[in-house]
Amino acid sequence: MISGNIANYFRNIYESVNTIATGMWITFKTAFFERKVTLQYPSYDVFEGKPKDAFLPNGSAKQPFELLLGAAQNYRGPLSRRVADRFRGLLGYNEPQCIACLLCMQICPIDVIAVKGVRIEGRKGKAPLTYTIDYAKCMFCGLCVESCPTGAVFFTRQFEASTFDFDALAKEFIPAEVRRERLRLSAEASQKPEKSRKEKKEDENDHL
Ligand code: SF4
Ligand code: SF4
Repeated sequence: MISGNIANYFRNIYESVNTIATGMWITFKTAFFERKVTLQYPSYDVFEGKPKDAFLPNGSAKQPFELLLGAAQNYRGPLSRRVADRFRGLLGYNEPQCIACLLCMQICPIDVIAVKGVRIEGRKGKAPLTYTIDYAKCMFCGLCVESCPTGAVFFTRQFEASTFDFDALAKEFIPAEVRRERLRLSAEASQKPEKSRKEKKEDENDHL
C-alpha cells in the first residue's frame, strides 16, 4: 500500500514535469522554428497573393510591412487557387447576357437586386437600364443565380468587400451614358411604326 502511494507520488511528479516540458517545447518550437503565416490584412491581398496598399479613410496609404515580419515569404499562395469553384462569393453580373427579365429581382427575398429594362433594336429580350446589387444586404442564398435563365448573374469566388464607405456596397452595373443611350434608342423605336409579324420574324432570324 505504502509502495503504491510512493509510486503514485513520483508518477505525478514525472507527469507534471513532462507536461510542462512538452508545453515549453511547443512554445519554443513555434516561436523560433515554425513558419509564421500571419498576413497583415488588408494591406496584403489574400486573394491575389501579393502586397498592396491599405487605404485609410483619410486617404493615406500604409505600405505593407509583411517583409519585416517574414510573413510574405511563408504565405502558401493566393486564396484564389484554394477557394473552391462552388464557393458563394460576391455576386457577379455579365451585362451582355442579361435580358432584363426581372426574375432575379422578383425572387430575391430581401430586395437586393433592382433591374429595369427597355426594348431596343438588335438586343434579344430587353436591355437593362439599371442593374443594382446591394452587397450590404445579400445573404448568398443563391435564389437569383438559380432562377436566371441566361447565367447573367452568378457567384464569384471573391469575398472581399470591406469598405469604409457603406454606400459603395450598392453597385450599379449600367453606366449612366449607356442608360441614356438606351433610353434614346428605345424612344426612337417607340416612334417607328409597328413592324409586321413577318418583318419581326426576319429580324429575329438576322440576329441568330
Ligand atoms: S443571393 Fe439571395 S439574397 Fe443575394 S441577391 Fe440573390 S436572391 Fe437576393
Ligand atoms: S434573371 Fe438573369 S437575365 Fe433576368 S434580369 Fe436577372 S440577371 Fe438579367
